Amino acid sequence: MEKMRAMVLSECAKIETNPLKLTKIDRHEIQRPNEILLKIEACGVCHSQLHGIEGDWKDIGIPPTLPTVPGHEVVGKVIEVGDTVTKFKVGDRAGITPLLEACKECQYCKEGKEYLCESSTILGESLKGGYSEYVTVTEDFATKVPESMKPEYAAPLFCAGITAYKAVKAAEPKSHKKIGVFGIGGVGHMAVQFAKVEGCDVIAFSRSEKHLDVAKRLGAQDAMTFSENQDEFLEKLKDKHGMLDAAIVFAPADIVTDTAIKSIKKGGLVVIATVGENPAFAAFEEKTIRGTLIGSTKDMEQVIKICDEKNLEVVSETFPLEDANKVLKKLKDSEIEARAVLIP
Ligand SMILES: [Zn+2]
Ligand SMILES: [Zn+2]
Repeated sequence: MEKMRAMVLSECAKIETNPLKLTKIDRHEIQRPNEILLKIEACGVCHSQLHGIEGDWKDIGIPPTLPTVPGHEVVGKVIEVGDTVTKFKVGDRAGITPLLEACKECQYCKEGKEYLCESSTILGESLKGGYSEYVTVTEDFATKVPESMKPEYAAPLFCAGITAYKAVKAAEPKSHKKIGVFGIGGVGHMAVQFAKVEGCDVIAFSRSEKHLDVAKRLGAQDAMTFSENQDEFLEKLKDKHGMLDAAIVFAPADIVTDTAIKSIKKGGLVVIATVGENPAFAAFEEKTIRGTLIGSTKDMEQVIKICDEKNLEVVSETFPLEDANKVLKKLKDSEIEARAVLIP
């Protein structure tokens, strides 16, 4: 059995204790005729890995098993294809979203909402994860990546990009709709741009000055510091911009969601793209709260197309695979501007 390098998590622990260990594990091989084998070029580091590794999400079953190889936004080169594969050939490039596989038979799958499938498998929640050198995937759950896209550009599109795209879509964007984006990190900075593509007037909110600068540079009409003093924050927003038509929440803090709901007009729409408790809201204001989760393979194809055609910017920094612990620590300390990407 050929081996490969991987950053393996055997036990959940604080990132300061370097819980990911560089290990030689069996290289994944094609097992079914509809699979392709990718040599990984890059894998983005998503905030959810920090929660999974530190054990914050044990209650919701993440990680489902140990040991695991984390990492769920992957781009690589196709180096082998199964006998029935038609979508890819050796030498193509492909990416995988967190949705590694779904049943293709249930109602969700048939409606094109395969990310809601009850029997789905998630990339990075078994030994198949992006913090390694190789991975296999069935052709239907891989998306083509143009030759012109750099690995560190393409990889973040497969979780941050698609999450942002689908959240913006859920906010029913249209020309000059005033949309607030709460939380400008790996996902938020992409959402600002997808909303701009739709002609929306975007206002970005973040606690970090650095993130506000990024949002402004990427076309936000304004970027305001988020404050937990809700009355003061809402007052300032009303003065400067009036109430929002819609809000999208990426920051995983209940106070942010609560504030977002209060920031929109009556009849407005809040899209929540993060975990947390849903705060109470006043029914008579006819507001809508909508959840969102990654996206479908079709959505992913759209993300690649839009980013390619409109030249959207992916703010990323690259690090060697071995630095995964260090990178996650930086992410924890808010020292990553938008997205860190591991290169094996
Ligand atoms: Zn992710
Ligand atoms: Zn299904």
